[in-house]
Amino acid sequence: MPNTLTLALSKGRIFKDTLPLLKAAGIEPIDDPETSRKLILETTQPDVRIIIVRASDVPTYVEYGGADIGVAGKDVLLEHPNAELYEPVDLKIARCKLMTAGRVNEPVKTGRLKVATKFVESTRRFYAQQGQQVDIIKLYGSMELAPLVGMADRIVDVVDTGDTLRANGLVPMELIADISSRLVVNKASMKMKHARIQQFIDDIRRAVREQNND
Ligand code: AMP
Repeated sequence: MPNTLTLALSKGRIFKDTLPLLKAAGIEPIDDPETSRKLILETTQPDVRIIIVRASDVPTYVEYGGADIGVAGKDVLLEHPNAELYEPVDLKIARCKLMTAGRVNEPVKTGRLKVATKFVESTRRFYAQQGQQVDIIKLYGSMELAPLVGMADRIVDVVDTGDTLRANGLVPMELIADISSRLVVNKASMKMKHARIQQFIDDIRRAVREQNND
């Protein structure tokens, strides 16, 4: 829509951590997505609305113009290597690490490693860079289970405190990437709504700097 800004956010950690940045830019949602069933939230700025989508769908909504701007984890963006998007700001929120992990007392393995993950693209690239051939098993969640039931030797997952791994007898092994959430912008919107989007980017950049004292 010509004179409105649509922001795509996912519920949970990203929504919670993005709120203070939006507030610093003068934008506050009128409904709380944790209690409201609405998927389109009006905000205190009449020309700005927020749509609530799955974290892994944010790049798709922004690329295809369902939203002008989105907030997406780098882990999700790495799974969309060919998405036509601008990625102008590292928001420095929802930080974690994309890592390989395996069992504490791993049985000795001969032959190809089996790696279970929902991060297929990053996993493929990581092992290819190592020159190691692996079989990747795509999962959508609870990756920690796969080594415990003998389905995989390794997993690739996002790790924050490491508690989830430890609780399941797994240890983090290799770092694949440092992860944080990024602002992404639709390329056509950046042209058509340049002044409005540039102002939004500047406001958010300033809020990130203030939040990180730099
Ligand atoms: P932890 O037990 O603190 O290492 O957290 C690990 C789990 O929390 C992972 O399996 C993820 O599902 C989730 N998680 C932690 N940090 C993030 C993040 N920044 N983005 C998305 N998921 C995360």
